Amino acid sequence: MNKFVRSVLAVALIGVAGFAQAEDKYPSKPITMVIPFAAGGPTDTVGRLLAQSMSKDLGQQVIVENLGGAGGTLGAAKVARSPADGYTIFLHHIGQSTAPSLYRKLSYNASSDFETIGLVTDVPMTIVARGNFPANNMAELLAYIKANKDKVTYANAGIGSASHLCGMLFQQAVATDLTTVPYKGTGPAMNDLLGGQVDFMCDQTTNTTSQIKGGKIKAFAVTTKTPVASLPNLPTLDKSGLPGFEVAVWHGLYAPKGTPKPIVDKLSKSLQLSLKDPTVIARFAELGTEPVSQDRATPAALRKHLDAEIARWKPVIDKAAQYAD
Ligand code: ASP
Repeated sequence: MNKFVRSVLAVALIGVAGFAQAEDKYPSKPITMVIPFAAGGPTDTVGRLLAQSMSKDLGQQVIVENLGGAGGTLGAAKVARSPADGYTIFLHHIGQSTAPSLYRKLSYNASSDFETIGLVTDVPMTIVARGNFPANNMAELLAYIKANKDKVTYANAGIGSASHLCGMLFQQAVATDLTTVPYKGTGPAMNDLLGGQVDFMCDQTTNTTSQIKGGKIKAFAVTTKTPVASLPNLPTLDKSGLPGFEVAVWHGLYAPKGTPKPIVDKLSKSLQLSLKDPTVIARFAELGTEPVSQDRATPAALRKHLDAEIARWKPVIDKAAQYAD
């Protein structure tokens, strides 16, 4: 081995050792968890619970950064361009799999630009309306919407959001094109629903449960095929006029592509621990959801799920294209 090769090798080895040391010490400073929606909404609620619990395990603060806009794609684009050092992580939902079919061009690849850390939870959605909306049950809601389609307004969190997906499928199911009002998240949309500025929306139970129970908004149905234990009075859409209707919002935790495997594994272990945290389990239950099983909170399970979901939603979205904006 000549002198030059020896010194190149030595520098490379020092580099690897330095990197390994950084991984050993990880995390040595606060971690940012990007949520691609406004504060106060359902993704934010899940993210903050998780961040708090993971902070305890990782020994460093996990700070939530809300980066809403364009149905979650602005936040995703920012994370895709962030340093792959484990100090930026990303909590997104089903929208990570639907955006590629809804946008002609995204500045990132929803699958290959991310390391998957694990699945988090599956959340049912609810059809809800402002407190003084004229309809009182699904049959009345469907009749009212059909008769007043030019004036009924529908809130969502932008193209690519879960509320957008549910709304698109709902409009397709009732064959009625409605006026949509996009927000940076359904936290602010809920404020306008409470204020009566917008008529109705489809949103996760993690955002709607307390307002439903408090009698502040009207609730009509859940989007899952089976009823939701925490909202036992609500029928399913499937059984109340829209047979076959089914959407549940899954959440996944990601890091930018290239984040070292030992770091991804450490984050995944921390996610798994958080999903066993009694505080997280209890709050999830109050909000109509539960943590995924431990074997789904893994990089491999989320990778498989994400890619399958991207493929699953494409034909569905193409078919509903008429209701996509
Ligand atoms: N629930 C929202 C959605 O429709 C997002 C949010 O604000 O968390 O995707």
